[in-house]
Amino acid sequence: MLRSLPAVEEILQDVQIKELLRKESRHLVVECVREAISELREKIKQGELFAENSLKSLVITQTQKMLIKKSRYNLQSVINATGVILHTNLGRAVLSQKARAAVAQIAGSYSNLELDLTTGERGSRYSHVLQLLRDLTGCEDALVVNNNAAAILLVLASMAKGKEVIVSRGQLIEIGGSFRVPEVMEQSGAKLVEIGTTNKTYLEDYERAINSETAALLKVHTSNYRVVGFTHETSTEELVKLGREKNIPVIEDAGSGVLFDLKNYGIQGEPIVQELISTGVDIVTFSGDKLLGGPQAGIIVGNKSIISQVKKYPLTRALRVDKMTVAALEATLKEYLDPQGVVENNPALNMLTMPLAKLQTKAERLKHLLAAALPDAEITIEEGYSQAGGGALPTTNLPTFLVAVHLANLSAEKAAHRLHTGEQPVLVRINQNKIILDPRTILPGEEQLLVSAFQGLTVAKI
Ligand SMILES: *Cc1c(COP(=O)(O)O)cnc(C)c1O
Repeated sequence: MLRSLPAVEEILQDVQIKELLRKESRHLVVECVREAISELREKIKQGELFAENSLKSLVITQTQKMLIKKSRYNLQSVINATGVILHTNLGRAVLSQKARAAVAQIAGSYSNLELDLTTGERGSRYSHVLQLLRDLTGCEDALVVNNNAAAILLVLASMAKGKEVIVSRGQLIEIGGSFRVPEVMEQSGAKLVEIGTTNKTYLEDYERAINSETAALLKVHTSNYRVVGFTHETSTEELVKLGREKNIPVIEDAGSGVLFDLKNYGIQGEPIVQELISTGVDIVTFSGDKLLGGPQAGIIVGNKSIISQVKKYPLTRALRVDKMTVAALEATLKEYLDPQGVVENNPALNMLTMPLAKLQTKAERLKHLLAAALPDAEITIEEGYSQAGGGALPTTNLPTFLVAVHLANLSAEKAAHRLHTGEQPVLVRINQNKIILDPRTILPGEEQLLVSAFQGLTVAKI
């Protein structure tokens, strides 16, 4: 059998391989053929192949598979069937159609990123979103940096290096990926002054801690957990009043960027940026890619004199955003000018506010498609919950309809593994040996790809 293995040249003469050569470089195709042959050689040596296998056709199929794998990018689209809308491991917010188009346009041409087209003079990359942020939040000035962690670091470093910043013990949060308030503060050079207790912090606690070294009062939104029961948190209004009296600026890290009230959709518990700004708080920071539904960014809005000081701080340059971020953010924010439209067009908001009836329809359609493709599987619809994720709305369970798939000859664990390692990766949940699919986060047009991935599960691998 080893002697009858085809030579590279022989394979390259095959019509199917010639077809591949028309699309891909000869170098890459030859490499795949070589690897396919050597893989088969190993299999023969291990006694895994038998004389009746046509070696030539095996080499060709293996070359085709290898080429698909090698020409694919490492960073690729995955189907998120977990029902977690903002999944940090899966890239958080999916951008809207308009935001994607804006990125593609700006990426493929020169732009006025730092040029004022009316005067022909040097402009600022932040100017493109300034008026939108003013209209949407009521702020005086704004700055956009790499992410919210960078925003907080920068604000603290520029305002409070070598001085004291007062924070409630109940708000010393850790966000996944090791963003910890005390550590960020240490990096910024500001000295953390902890006050109150885990469950209760009063205005008097802040008042007592203020001295000549105090540079700011910091309030941090407890995005990914809630302290419930016997609790007291000092409101932003109270802090602003105290800050005014003592002439100390108040900073609030809002976590997610919620720009308008989502109460009508049953979503509550996240601070609304505009409401914070209207209390007179000096600085608010928030993420671009959480509930705002935009690109990764840290948005700083607030008082003009403080923000102009932050803009001049040398670290700002190191944390600045790219033109593609500015393009995506401008397009995302522009859609917020029409609150009803944005709920329809922004994928994060659309998924967050998706009506139960629509989820049921989506679940039934998916069940139907899967049942047709997998005659041996047991497929049912169950009631369950989705999550906002991304460190937002930790106690909000979003009711949904789930599709549960029980495969006849494959454990849910194995199937889930094959689904995320497959050609079209699919991320699922597992419950009681069933694969659970939440239609909320399956994007329009992904159903068919999902069904094909399931069909591929039972195909034996050579
Ligand atoms: C998510 C979060 C951060 C970190 O934001 P990134 O944009 O991920 O850097 C900081 N603070 C709070 C309160 C958060 O919720």
